[in-house]
Amino acid sequence: MLSPRMVPALTAALALGLVLSLPAFAQQDWDAATIETVQVTDGIAMLVGPGGNVGVSTGADGVFLIDDEYGQVNTKVLGAIQKLSSDPIRFVINTHWHDDHTGGNKDLASTGSVIVAHEGVRRRMAAGQVIEAFGMNVPPAPPEALPVITFTDAVTFHRNGDDIHVFHVAPAHTDGDSVIRFEKANVIHTGDLYFNGFYPFIDTSSGGSIEGMIAGVDRILEIADDSTKIIPGHGPLSNPQELKAYRTMLETVRDRVAKLKAEGKSADEVVAAKPTADLDEVWGKGFLPPDIFVKLVYDGMK
Ligand SMILES: [Zn+2]
Repeated sequence: MLSPRMVPALTAALALGLVLSLPAFAQQDWDAATIETVQVTDGIAMLVGPGGNVGVSTGADGVFLIDDEYGQVNTKVLGAIQKLSSDPIRFVINTHWHDDHTGGNKDLASTGSVIVAHEGVRRRMAAGQVIEAFGMNVPPAPPEALPVITFTDAVTFHRNGDDIHVFHVAPAHTDGDSVIRFEKANVIHTGDLYFNGFYPFIDTSSGGSIEGMIAGVDRILEIADDSTKIIPGHGPLSNPQELKAYRTMLETVRDRVAKLKAEGKSADEVVAAKPTADLDEVWGKGFLPPDIFVKLVYDGMK
């Protein structure tokens, strides 16, 4: 959700007391966008572009994709995949509904890819959504872009010599999140439960909460070992050590905000108290301004 280059616009909009509207996002320079390929293992790569990180598994059974970026960079994504394999893209799994992870669905479906996701992804894409944190209106996705196979809990793919486990985590970044684990390759794609190196966006208008983010990260850490390679939703390729540090940050912020909220402070008062001040040097520079993160943590608390 949101690319780093949008942050100056976001900060400016907030300074002016404005909220972002969709046209602000449309101003992104798609022509200048690049897709970088990072090899994770022999048969698995990660594509890094303006949206969410894409996971690519290649091998005897064709291409298996995790997320498909913004639709505006679909040609570039396909170009990067072509360099890895000329086989057809048979399956695409969406980690959640945000359009920086599902924007390529329509084009991929039109060339025969089967789109799979948690049922909440299809429901939210079909209905259209408002992301309150950014005052952003997302219209309903065209029917061709919707996942055609949905699940409620978990599904396993047997592809390219691996067992690929996809499991839903209770409301975390949204209420339709999935984590994908390549059992043999020992690779995990976290979706947007994990923003490596910066405060994560939590979509409270789609049922997200910091509590759920922490619980989801714990489930990932339970199945990871020291050599697991971790593809985050955003940010560079990672490992369990870094994910643990991120988890500690989430817990610290959760505890501080919960304490202030329990004292009866309003969202504005909690933001003004700067509860993340000592963490901002490390986590507050990449993506989401600290004030917005704190507000989302507060909003997501029951
Ligand atoms: Zn997202």
